[in-house]
Amino acid sequence: MERGAWCNCFGSGMGAISSALAGCLDGPGHVVCVAHAYGPTRTYLQHLKRFGVETTYVSGVATADIVGAIRDDTKILYLESPTSGYFECPEIVPLVEAAQKRQIRTIFDNSWATPYFFTPLDLGVDLVVHSATKYLNGHSDVVAGVAVGRDLGLRDRVLKEAELGGATLDPFAAWLMIRGLRTLAVRMEHHQAVGLAAARMLAEHSKVARVIHPGLPSHPQHEIARRQLRGSSSLFSFTLLEQTSEATHRFLNRLKLFAQGVSWGGHESLAIGGTFFASDPTRKEWLIRLHVGLESVEDILADLRQALED
Ligand SMILES: *Cc1c(COP(=O)(O)O)cnc(C)c1O
Repeated sequence: MERGAWCNCFGSGMGAISSALAGCLDGPGHVVCVAHAYGPTRTYLQHLKRFGVETTYVSGVATADIVGAIRDDTKILYLESPTSGYFECPEIVPLVEAAQKRQIRTIFDNSWATPYFFTPLDLGVDLVVHSATKYLNGHSDVVAGVAVGRDLGLRDRVLKEAELGGATLDPFAAWLMIRGLRTLAVRMEHHQAVGLAAARMLAEHSKVARVIHPGLPSHPQHEIARRQLRGSSSLFSFTLLEQTSEATHRFLNRLKLFAQGVSWGGHESLAIGGTFFASDPTRKEWLIRLHVGLESVEDILADLRQALED
């Protein structure tokens, strides 16, 4: 599906990510990472600091900002597009070109788009990683990860990290994941439709300040997302006009169809809210992140509307 030469499954998305990062390093070195990469990925990179691995987190999404962070000792360019929480969309092709020129490995977390909407290996990325816990499995009953690559030498190194680190996938979880993958295409089409319908409704609602969804023309990198991706999934964020803990939790607690939970990509709709999404802790913005599930569009819109009522 990702059009790679090899693939390996892991016991979790973090198992795939930590094995991919360690497999691309052979000692101290430098990593360039987008600032709003998945939180535990950033924490893992911080953890590697004790082994002499230094990371620069780039808050801008412009190519010049990210390429400008590359140093002589940079070994890895770690990317998400859209990023976690804030859904910024850096442009992949010029970043991959800059990395290849300097023999820097690129790792791309494709959990958001899935191979149904994006295949980054086609653009020259070295390694694609996934939290298969999310859309690939799709039923909120498995924790799993995937890494896909082209270079067979890199496969041996990533596999060794997984085996020695114990990040192997158990057979029953693998069986469940195969079952989930069979419906990926139909699930992603439904997620796309209901996700966009929810985002458009919220964008027009009088209580909503801002909707952050790469599929909306109001998104700052909408043009990049449109060119880069074949479609959009159903995980996005928005902010209320009233930026308070009370207003955020009132909304979350009034939801009936949406459960409150941190994971996403499964059949059911989930919501979480907080100020913890921003990489800059001084940015006190109350963000609400929605994962729109496989329920009917009428039920989803009705639940969001009633939760926003006075
Ligand atoms: C959840 C998530 C992960 C980690 O996956 P686990 O399977 O929970 O370890 C990695 N990347 C992104 C973007 C995620 O949302």
